Amino acid sequence: MKHFAYILIGVWIIFGCKIKKTKANEKLIVCSTSVTADCVRQVVGDKLIVKSLMGPGVDPHTYNPRPSDVVLLNDAKLVVYTGFHLEGKMAELFSRLSERKAVVSFQLDFPKDQVLYTDEITPDPHVWFDTESWVHSMNGVVDKLVELYPEYELEFRENFYKFQVKVQKKTAELKLKLSEIPQEQRVLITSHDAFHYFGRTFDVRVKALQGVSTSQEPGVRDVIDLVDFIVKHRVKAIFVENSVSPKALKSVLSSVERRGYQVKIGGTLFSDALGSKGSGADTYLGMLSHNVNAIKEGLK
Ligand SMILES: [Zn+2]
Repeated sequence: MKHFAYILIGVWIIFGCKIKKTKANEKLIVCSTSVTADCVRQVVGDKLIVKSLMGPGVDPHTYNPRPSDVVLLNDAKLVVYTGFHLEGKMAELFSRLSERKAVVSFQLDFPKDQVLYTDEITPDPHVWFDTESWVHSMNGVVDKLVELYPEYELEFRENFYKFQVKVQKKTAELKLKLSEIPQEQRVLITSHDAFHYFGRTFDVRVKALQGVSTSQEPGVRDVIDLVDFIVKHRVKAIFVENSVSPKALKSVLSSVERRGYQVKIGGTLFSDALGSKGSGADTYLGMLSHNVNAIKEGLK
């Protein structure tokens, strides 16, 4: 049924509804995830309307577009997405949309030599956790915004510059914070493999129960391996994620206990989606701070 709805949506996008050129739509930027939407908002300020298809806590790997998303995508002046197959089920739609409207991805300007791969051909899509490369990848998005709205060029470029500085400062501050955890204790265990870029940026060893996508359930072997690792390395805490069900990780917790060792849940990390308003993780920078504080607290 879901598959049928997906095909219908695809057909609608390709052949369907006409773009409504209203005044509001001329200022409408539609982003795929809450992370991309926040970063675009930092550049455009209050000059444009930025909407995110996926709200707080939504898993992008398995997300199917809703009919209301199709309306938004059709109305948008510009569509922005992450790329690297993060938005697995929407990649085809973005590609079709780009034949008839402005569509840009963060992948476009992400430094190619900084991409991590899970095998020879599959890129790890959680690129926003390499803060320096992520901000660099915003160049393509900002250029597209300037092309569409040349009247705001100065403001957008200035906002972008200020955001770059903020991200740089925050990264340095958070690196310092995590360096206070002894190196052998600096091991981050999460539900799915979303933190390899984070680990590289903040010098943390990472391990996860599931692969880089949540579309496949973890197997018995994955659970046993992770339990062995936790017991062997006396890991103090493991972390659940806001966009992934904690069920599988909780079974790891009980298996560890059965082996006579105690590991705690160190809190919730924000991986593929920001938190809701007021959570402190409802912006890109807020998400980074929240994650580092939770990791520090859990592993100290
Ligand atoms: Zn993910």
